Amino acid sequence: MSIARVQSLCLTPDGIRPCTARAQIQGGLPLTRLLNRGRNAASLRERIRSVIKGAGYRYPSGRVTLDIELARGGRLDDGHALPLALAVLLASDQITTAAGAQHTWFGELNLDGSLLPLDPDLVLACGNLQNLAGGTGAPHFLASLRQLDPTPMTATAPAPSAPSLMPGWPTELATWVLSGGHSTLVYGEPGVGKSGWSHGLCAHWPESPRVRARRAGKRLFASTPGVSDPWRLPVGANARQLAHWQHLQRGHVVALDDLPLHSQGLRDALPERMDLEPQTATLATANPCPCGWLGSPRKACRCNPATRRRWQRQLPPPLIDRFDLVARYEYGEAGPRPIDMRPIRTSWVRQQQRQGCLNAQLTCAGLNDVPGLGQSMTRALRLHGNRLGLSGRAQLKCALVARTLADLAGRDAICEDDLQTAIGLRASPHEG
Ligand SMILES: [Zn+2]
Repeated sequence: MSIARVQSLCLTPDGIRPCTARAQIQGGLPLTRLLNRGRNAASLRERIRSVIKGAGYRYPSGRVTLDIELARGGRLDDGHALPLALAVLLASDQITTAAGAQHTWFGELNLDGSLLPLDPDLVLACGNLQNLAGGTGAPHFLASLRQLDPTPMTATAPAPSAPSLMPGWPTELATWVLSGGHSTLVYGEPGVGKSGWSHGLCAHWPESPRVRARRAGKRLFASTPGVSDPWRLPVGANARQLAHWQHLQRGHVVALDDLPLHSQGLRDALPERMDLEPQTATLATANPCPCGWLGSPRKACRCNPATRRRWQRQLPPPLIDRFDLVARYEYGEAGPRPIDMRPIRTSWVRQQQRQGCLNAQLTCAGLNDVPGLGQSMTRALRLHGNRLGLSGRAQLKCALVARTLADLAGRDAICEDDLQTAIGLRASPHEG
């Protein structure tokens, strides 16, 4: 009897986790058993047999017992054919491992033993795992494995090019939003570039390698089909889909273009969902009125008061309160210009070192919990906030945005200017 173990990965609802594949070969009548149950179990067993034969090896003639020790909530899938086939080949002494080679094997095998290219997201997600092997799309992969001595895959995240934005206000606003990972509602006239702006931001949203690995794993586990922009929730989605999206994107961002056009059910659920998922930021855009030109210096609004009131009810105060920043997107005359990511990255590092998360993800019961706010600034914020009729929640959001402004300036203490700017970033979309 001989046993072999091979390390692999499994996709779980919470991300990618390590797991172990085992093969045991005994004498006796030919029989292959896979101890795991699941939708794919039978086809996986057949696939392993075909792959081993297709790659020119012998399938063991005795009793073969296969087992994958999956992580909690993990799912059996075709990616496990590779570690199981390797375990069978190792247990039957057809290949040998290089001494001390501790690799993690994951990849989808063709029937001839060659590998299909791995989902780039998965490779990227595993970039922080040591010694991930497989999935390079090498032809006749198994056949060339007399000596199990793989070349580890190196996955490096492509450096995303900085988003190009109109210089001036939108660029400044983007810097603040990205620095603290803040939930933001931007409104403004049609065709001014709000959606493009929000998508540029989503692509550059701050995330740690751990968050990236979890997110890619969850997305592959849920195998959400046809999602090209994983962060954008399509118009027409319901509250349940919103919850699902927020779960997939935890630690990152969900974009809601044209928020008033989304379903009533989704908008009703959004305030509560934003409270329940404080780790997932929301980036929403809206027109200020049905025609879109309310408050524009270029064109007059054609809406009557009744339609405007109806529009305002689509964005009620409790919903607006949940956003850290609410700002008008101003029209820019000059051409786009890349935004400078360096100060943003420096401020991410400051926040991570101080509190282990972004400012927007801080859980504060009150203003006293905001780092660096201090007593006099707390009093100043309460004074201004009460005068402007800001709710307690909105005042806390102001303090967190002020925290981000101070981080961008490299200061530990929040100053009066930070507070004034943060309060100015709560402009109501209904006032034009
Ligand atoms: Zn209008």
